[in-house]
Parts: sequence; structure tokens; C-alpha cells
Amino acid sequence: MSTSRFDLVKDAFAKKAAPVDVPAGKKPSEYYGELVFDREKMHKYLDAESLRGLLACIDNGQPLDRKTADGVAAGMKTWALEHGVTHVTHWFQPLTEGTAEKHDSLLEYDGKGGVIEQFDGKSLAQQEPDASSFPNGGIRATFEARGYTAWDPTSPVFIQDDTLCIPTVFISYTGEALDYKTPLKKALKAVSDASVPICRLFDPKVSKVYSYLGWEQEYFLVDEELYAARPDLMITGRTLMGHNSSKNQQLDDHYFGAIPSRVAAFMRDLEIAGHKLGIPIKTRHNEVAPNQFELAPIFGEANLANDQNQMVMNLMNSVARKHGFVVLLHEKPFDGVNGSGKHNNWSLGTDTGTLLMAPGKDAMGNLQFVTFFVNTLAAVQRHNGLLKATIATATNAHRLGANEAPPAIVSAFLGKTMTDVLHKLLELPSDTPIEIAGKKGKSLGLVEIPEIFVDNTDRNRTSPFAFTGNRFEFRAVGSSANCAGAMTTLNAAVAEQLLDFKAALDVELAKGKALNVAVMDTLKPIIASIIDVVCFDGNGYSDEWKVEAKRRGLNVETSVPEMIKEFTRPESIAMFTRTGVYTEAELKARNEVKWEIYSKKVQIESRVMVRMVTNHIIPAAISYKEKLLREIKLSKDIFGDDYLSQCAPELSLLKKISEQINSASEKAEAMRQSRKAANVIEDEYEKAVAYHQIAEDLFALRRPVDKLEELVDNDVWPLPKYRELLFIS
Ligand code: ADP
Ligand code: MG
Repeated sequence: MSTSRFDLVKDAFAKKAAPVDVPAGKKPSEYYGELVFDREKMHKYLDAESLRGLLACIDNGQPLDRKTADGVAAGMKTWALEHGVTHVTHWFQPLTEGTAEKHDSLLEYDGKGGVIEQFDGKSLAQQEPDASSFPNGGIRATFEARGYTAWDPTSPVFIQDDTLCIPTVFISYTGEALDYKTPLKKALKAVSDASVPICRLFDPKVSKVYSYLGWEQEYFLVDEELYAARPDLMITGRTLMGHNSSKNQQLDDHYFGAIPSRVAAFMRDLEIAGHKLGIPIKTRHNEVAPNQFELAPIFGEANLANDQNQMVMNLMNSVARKHGFVVLLHEKPFDGVNGSGKHNNWSLGTDTGTLLMAPGKDAMGNLQFVTFFVNTLAAVQRHNGLLKATIATATNAHRLGANEAPPAIVSAFLGKTMTDVLHKLLELPSDTPIEIAGKKGKSLGLVEIPEIFVDNTDRNRTSPFAFTGNRFEFRAVGSSANCAGAMTTLNAAVAEQLLDFKAALDVELAKGKALNVAVMDTLKPIIASIIDVVCFDGNGYSDEWKVEAKRRGLNVETSVPEMIKEFTRPESIAMFTRTGVYTEAELKARNEVKWEIYSKKVQIESRVMVRMVTNHIIPAAISYKEKLLREIKLSKDIFGDDYLSQCAPELSLLKKISEQINSASEKAEAMRQSRKAANVIEDEYEKAVAYHQIAEDLFALRRPVDKLEELVDNDVWPLPKYRELLFIS
């Protein structure tokens, strides 16, 4: 084993960049979107009637009748066959990680020995996957055994390898959502419905408000052969043990460094594959930790952007293998270096082209911006514990509360400009216009937003919810998460707040006040209630902030099983049911699923850890111990009593190693017992609480193991070390 570890490392180090699959003779603009059935393909492949019906469905939410669906399916089939497609699948996002697919061949047998390619409106619109094996928190047991998938025509159909993929929602026969997409779509509708009446006061032409999402995906790459030599990485996606490398990220040299050529080739291939799928991938760069990278597209409509994130996560894995890498999407694959997140840049915008989270063109535009800005902050304050719960998973728990984004407290960073604006608005009369300074000259003592503001917003990397000039950046989302979890709650919470705001505004307007005065009079008490609570521009990692946040009434819970309870607080149920996003039954069922997944993840980690301690670590330590013992015995034979001084270092080492072996084996045995006890707990919440303790114990068990790695002969250590995993590419 030991020699092969060095061979693996040498091989990995010697690997050259794999060739990139550049489409011959084509510019990116020519292959961009070639594998998506987008509007251009619709025009080309659909008959006039089907096209009209489909666009009415996509743009205006009209239902799609069977005849139109048949016409659309026929056009898609022609297009798909031209690309060598042989299979079709409904593609959906169950409550497990990632996406689910069940591929059906397009071939139909006519019973007389003949075959034809067949795909009709019915198979496009609906399928019944065997749903019983997806988590449902008891919904199907209580209501109805079957679940079905239904096409979401607002997400374009795409081709992956030989398969036509149809994005769908996944729901039970009684209508409960069993996936991430359904509630997200409901929340997007809720926030649009709540925003439009407010926007119309400023611009009567507005008929729809879009929620935008721009995700930034962080990830690690490891060489696939070294990965395969680490059972913990293979099975849990993270290293459960491993002593810190002497050098990790302290020099910050990776962040600014050049992208290694093997990695650059992978990134290029990934971009090409993404561009073919119409994913507007834009930036790529190194991240803070060694072997950590980031990729981000240009933001888009949230439902589509989220589908694209799911597609990219799938793509990353398959493209990486071609380059001899494995992608780690786990939030904390390595102890002692930064983990990976997925910043969710979020904003709202009207169908008339106004971005609601950016200063406007004039005083009224600025007032509209401030209205949406303040109400977003108020929603985040009302539901700060719930928002934290949306990102609370067993894997993201390793980032939460550690010294890296996100702190386990959801506060909002405004930056100096907007903080000053809010303070001024509180002081000045309600009819004071909000000016863009520089454009309209110097407005004496009035409320001003400097013109350079959008490009120049100050940054605070420690804030989980930061305003960055034309959007908010929710930084707490985990790298492996489905963004829909966080985006559903954020949009729903903002919708609820906007409904309340509009009701209060109507009261002011009914008094005969001018619009700007009525808006400011409604906003002022809201500003006063948030400015010293959720708004916080200081260091989110500091211990003082934890004390201060608690005093302010923000949620400071750090245990994931407890955080999950936020979903069923009366305030959360009221918000979700009022906005039509989740029923109470769905919320309860989804919590069961969350606790169950939490427990299972920790259970798997704990099993892998104990087995590795037993089968890898202790045997390696014992073989080294044996070598030391033989050496000591030999010394005694040769030097007699003098051996004690001759062998002082060996004796001391022996003692240390024995202590660590004892500690590791005791802790491993204790963990086995704790697991046994946890496994018989019936209640999912109680079980998750028990597993939360086991998750803590995993840290404790890691200590003697990492100590042994430091003490034991490098030649006999069976696992690739951090310095080998993190610096080879
Ligand atoms: P940084 O690393 O500085 O945060 P990046 O350029 O890596 O910035 O990512 C910013 C992300 O935010 C991109 O996906 C970008 O398209 C997106 N974005 C920019 N403006 C908006 C907006 N108004 N709404 C939502 N997302 C936005
Ligand atoms: Mg960012």
C-alpha cells in the first residue's frame, strides 16, 4: 500500500492537461445553446399553432392543451433525432441531492416486429416515476401512494448525451410538492404578484416582476486516483481525517495565482459543454484554498438559473473525469482550509426593464428602489432564523459558525452609502427627493446616492446577506445545495413583507397624501425598526457580534436539527401559507425529510470513520509500533541496561503512539455505541439531535488520528495526505 501511495502521487504530479473538445470551426456564439430547445428552435421546428400555444403558455401562463402538446412533442422529436437522441427522460429535483432521471427509449414496438421512434404530447407532459423511493416525509403514506412529474414549459428542454431531458415538477397525486422546483415557482409567482401593484404606482405599464438569481459555484478538484485511495472522500465527499499541510492558504498565493494548465483545460471543456446548453457561464477563477475554484454565469430568471446550476453540477462531474479529476462539491472537504459556498446573487426587476434593487433614474425611481430595498431588509429581519434554516444541512454545518462565511447569524450588510441614506430618510421630511449626487448637481443636505455607487460598493466578506450595489448576495448557501431551498424562502418572505407594506401604504394614500409622501411615511417606521437590528456592517466573525446579535433578538442557534424547526414556527407557517408557497402539511413533511437526511449523512460519516480507524489507521500505527518495539528489543540485547538512554526517543515515541491508539480505539468504540442508541430512536427530530452529538464526536475522534499521522512513519501511512491531495493539479 505504502509504495503505491507514492506512485499515485508521482503519477498525479506528472499528468499533463487533457485535450479540450473545441467544436471544430465554430465560434462560441455559433454553438451557444445548440443543445437547448429554445425560442429559436421553437420557431424552426414547431408548426404555427403549436408555437402560438406554447408561447402563450410560457409568457402568459396559459394552460397547454393536449393537441398543442402533441404538436410541440413532434417538433422536439425531429430536433432531438437530428442530434442522435435515442432516449427521453423527465428531469426533476427531488429532496435528495442533485437531480433524478428515468430514461425511456424513444423506440416503440408495433407488435408486428417493426419499431418506430415515438414521442407524443402525453409523454412530454406527464410521467409517473416510481416515486416510492424518493424522500417525502410521509406525505405519500398519508395521502396517496403515487407521485408524478409534469413538464415545466418555462424551463427549456435540453439534450444530454443521447437523452432528451424535460425539466419537470414532481408532486404527489394530492398536489403536495415532493421537489425543489414546485415551491420555487410558487414563490416566484408570489413575489411577482406582491410587487406588481407597488411597481404600478411608479410605472403603470408593469405587468410582471422577475426574481433574478446569479449563482457563484465554488468547488475543489482532486486527482481521481488519489481520490480513489481515500474511502472517506469517495463515500462522504469529504476527508474525515487528515493532518493539516504545513502550508495551506496562509500565503494567499492560490487566490491570485495562475490557473494550472490541467485545471484550465477542465474549465474550458466545462464552459464549452455549458455554453452548448445555453448556460451563460462567464467567469472562472481560483478561490482562496489550494485546489479550490469558482465558476459563475451571468444572472438570469431564478427558476431557469437554478435549473442551470443543477445542470452545471452534473456536468462538472462528468467533464472532470475526462481530465482525471473528481469535483468535490461538499461544503468542507478539507479541515483547516476554506470550505465552498454558492453565493446567491438576488434581485427583482420589472418586465419593463427596471432593476428594483438599483438606484433609479430620478427621485421617484430612487424612491421605488428604496421601497424594495427596505422591504427586503424587513423580510430578512422577520425571517432571519428561517433563512438560516434554508441553508442548514449536515454538510454546510461545517462552514456555519466557523471562521468563514457564513456566520451562524443572518444579518444584512448595507455599506456606508445606503446606511447614510436610510439615516437621512429618517431625519428629513417625507417629501425630500432622493437624488443621485453628481447627476443633478450638489443637493444641499438632502438624501443623495453617489453616481459611482454601483461599481464601487464597499465589500464586507463576513456578512451572510450583503448589498452589493444592484443586488443582495446571500452568501450562506452551501456549495452542494439546490439554490431553490434558499430562493423559495427569500422570495416568499419578501412577498409577504410587500403585501403588508402595500396594505399600510394604501392607508396613507387614502388620507390623500401624495405618493412620495405616503411611501416615505409608510417606510419610516420600517426603517426605524430594522436599522439597528438586522443591519450590521461590522465583523460577522467576531465573538462580540454573537453577544450583540442575541441582544438584538436575532437567531443565534448553531445546531442544524434545531434550526430546521424554524420552518414550522407559527410565523413561518403563516408566511408560507399566505403566499401560497407551502401548506402546513408540506412544511411538516419536509422537516421530517430534512432531519432524516441529516441523520443519515452523519450516520454514514460515522460508519466510514470508525471503519477507517479500525482498518487503516490503527493497523498502520501498530505496524510502526512493532518496528519500534523490535528496535528497542535489539538495543536491549546489544546494550543491556544502557538501552534506556540509547532508545530514549523510541521509547517516548512509543508511549505517544500507544496513547493515541488507545484514544482512537476507545472513541471509535464509543461512537459505535452512540450510533446504536441513535438508530433505535423513532422520532426523526430526536434522532437528528442524537446524530448532532455524533457529528461533534467525529471531531474528537479525528484528533488522535491526525496526531498519529504526525507521529507514524510516512512510509507506512496508508492514505494520501493533505499536502498530496491539495497541491497536485
Ligand atoms: P463577485 O465574486 O464579486 O461577487 P461575480 O462576478 O463572481 O462577483 O459574480 C456576481 C454574480 O452576480 C454573477 O452571476 C452576476 O451575473 C450576478 N449579478 C449581477 N447583477 C445581478 C443582479 N442585479 N441580480 C442578480 N444577480 C446579479
Ligand atoms: Mg459574490
